[in-house]
Amino acid sequence: MSGFLSGEEVAIKKKSGKRKIGLFGGTFNPIHLGHLRGAEEIREAFGLHEMIFIPAALPPHKRPEEVIEARHRFEMVRLAIADNPHFSITDIELLRPEKSYSIDTIRYFRERHPNDLFFILGRDAFVEIETWKEFRHLFSLCNFVVMTRPGSQISSSSSLLPEALMPAFRYDQQLKAWVHTSGHTLHFREITLLDISSTKIRESIERGESVRYLIPAEVEAYIKKNRLYSREPSLV
Ligand code: ATP
Repeated sequence: MSGFLSGEEVAIKKKSGKRKIGLFGGTFNPIHLGHLRGAEEIREAFGLHEMIFIPAALPPHKRPEEVIEARHRFEMVRLAIADNPHFSITDIELLRPEKSYSIDTIRYFRERHPNDLFFILGRDAFVEIETWKEFRHLFSLCNFVVMTRPGSQISSSSSLLPEALMPAFRYDQQLKAWVHTSGHTLHFREITLLDISSTKIRESIERGESVRYLIPAEVEAYIKKNRLYSREPSLV
């Protein structure tokens, strides 16, 4: 399977020298062009060698009845990234029997990679960071990049950081990033934010509306074939 890394392959894929790796976690229920465009822009902006998509098993903050089976979400991500040589996917969160927490995923990659790790997330996810497991400790493990909307607050604005995190960070004008006491960085990076969400996609499909040009054609075909997100029962 192209671009797929099983848990053990992640370890084997260690290359000599440091590689910059992006970790992009999400429910991807389903993956859409907003996710893909954001990942591509961040990959380019930070010179990342690879962006690893990490579908979550059942994210702690999502309602189980809204999240379709992991195998479908995984397959849709695989189809969506197949033509991008810098994108790959891993099933490590799906293999874990317990809930997926980002801190465990980051620890997993740290143990196996001598690389610079960048955890990628959207602003909507970052505003809830204080609800994440061991949220203070997250920033001592890797770099973070928060994707923001053009025209949003400037990245040095302290209002972007939750108060609980402020003591651990200082703003570096040269890096244009917040630097954690551990030396890791936290970037707020503007991207061409496409106003697409998985929720909107699911709602449109349920209403029988077109989602063309919002998700990759391969993903649209997969959804149709498997009758996902519609009220009609699945054929498979
Ligand atoms: P839902 O509508 O079901 O909550 P979602 O569209 O936000 O889903 P997720 O899989 O929860 O998708 O998101 C994974 C990551 O992608 C999160 O960090 C989220 O902030 C980010 N993200 C979601 N939509 C976009 C978008 N349009 N552009 C850039 N990043 C996005």
